[in-house]
Parts: sequence; structure tokens; C-alpha cells
Amino acid sequence: MPFWARNDCVAFCRGSSGVERGPEKAGVGSSILPLGTLMFIDTHSHLNFPAFSEDYPDVIARAKRTGIAAIINVGADLPTSKRAIELAQKEDLCYATVGIHPTSTNNLKDEDYQELEGLAQKKKVVAIGEIGLDYFHNSTPKEIQKRSFEMQILLAKKLNLPVIIHNRDAHQDVLAVLKEKEVKKGVMHCFSGDINLAKKVFSLGLHISFTGNLTYKKNEDLRAVAKEIPLKKMLLETDCPYLPPQPKRGKRNEPGFLVYTAEALAKIKGISLEELGEITSENARELFKL
Ligand SMILES: [Zn+2]
Repeated sequence: MPFWARNDCVAFCRGSSGVERGPEKAGVGSSILPLGTLMFIDTHSHLNFPAFSEDYPDVIARAKRTGIAAIINVGADLPTSKRAIELAQKEDLCYATVGIHPTSTNNLKDEDYQELEGLAQKKKVVAIGEIGLDYFHNSTPKEIQKRSFEMQILLAKKLNLPVIIHNRDAHQDVLAVLKEKEVKKGVMHCFSGDINLAKKVFSLGLHISFTGNLTYKKNEDLRAVAKEIPLKKMLLETDCPYLPPQPKRGKRNEPGFLVYTAEALAKIKGISLEELGEITSENARELFKL
């Protein structure tokens, strides 16, 4: 079963830094904002996955109530890319990306890439992703992953779209491909590396985005990295249904839970939640041309 067909909260996209599990209380509060105060953008969500097929309208309604102004649903193969486009057509605040996740790149044919190129030109498609390299799951040969990553980067460049990069246990190779292909617009999603990796990502001109794993008790190292990174380069995401923030561990994650990650980041940066929302939303609008 591909990972997105699973209905549980297995933290598929989490990095290799190791995160704890359990019902511990988080060090973050729960500032649910009044309706109409729209201030956050969930730049990496999967309402296009089966986990949300039954109740996505309720999920979107709850997201609005917590201040979510836009949700970018990220494709992981052709069916989920199509579903992301469908949702973008139906729902005002939804946008889509199209792409083939590295663990789904086995057995792709030329026609599949052609189809992807067609999908990438649909309305409200704002990026190519998620694409990259995943050496953790080990289900797809590295060379196949790399070829697909490169082909999709070329597509992004051809259409002048940013890329959403999935990188798991593949830091050096991901950086090498990005450098070689001169990728200048995009985001390293679900960041879990150290400050050196962050600096290398910035030197290419790319952004970094944080998920709920920023709120996990044992992730002091990641919070230390976040402290050093310039706000201008940061984005927020849930990666839902995966990676619920600390107060929601064990539950299905959803865009409305983004506020916990936002609160953690605002605390790290010593700024207000409103200010953090403004800056990160502006970053997202600029990168994805929302
Ligand atoms: Zn994802």
C-alpha cells in the first residue's frame, strides 16, 4: 500500500532526526483565532489523500476558523496530483501542486511524465512537488529516484514553477542535484537537517519549511536551527495527515493544527503570532504566486 493510502498518522515524511511518540503535553498553547482573522498558509497539506476523502469540507471549515487563509495540497503521484487539482477547482482557499514522490518513481513511463506536464499547466497549480530523494524507505533504486527528480526539476524550470523537495536521509545527493540543475526557486519541506544544511539550502536561494515536528519535546536541535534561520526564508506546513503537532500526537493531522507549529516558531523567534503569520504568509505568497 502506498504511504498516502494509509489512514493512520505514521509520520511518513519526518526526517531522520528521530521524533518521540506519545501523549506528552506540549509547551505550546492553543490560540484559536476569531473567525475572519486569516493569517496562515499551510504550504504542504494532503487533503488530496484518502484520509480526508470523507470529511474534507469539515476539515476546511475548521481550518478557516483557526486563521488558515490558503492550503496547498501536494501531489505524490498522478492520482493524488489530479485530486489536488480537483480540490483547488472546488475550494477557494485550496491550491495544488503536481509531482511524483521519490518512492513512487518505479515503473514510470514517458507517457506519465507527459501527463504530469499537462496537469502542471492547470489553473491553481503553483509548484512541482513533492519530488526529491528518499533513502530511508529504500523501496526504489537511487538511480531511478534521481532520474525522476531531475526530470521533474526540468519540468518546473520549463514552466517557471518552484519545486517542493522531499529529502529523507539523502542530504548530500539532494543538494548535489539542486546545484547541478541550478534550482533557484523552491522549498525544502519538513526540514529536519542541521544549520549547515540550512545554510546550503539558503545559498541556493531556496526556502525551508517546518511541520509539527518543531513542537516535539525532543526536537531541541531543530528549534535551535529555527532560531538561527532568517524569517524571510521560512514557511509553515502541516504535511497532514502526517506529523501532528505535540498536543495532537496520535491523531490525524489537519491544516487547522498549523497554529501549534506557528506558536512554537513565534516563541522561538520572540515575535507575536500575528507577525509570524504575516511574514510566513508573505513568503508563501511570493514563492508560490498565490
Ligand atoms: Zn508530504
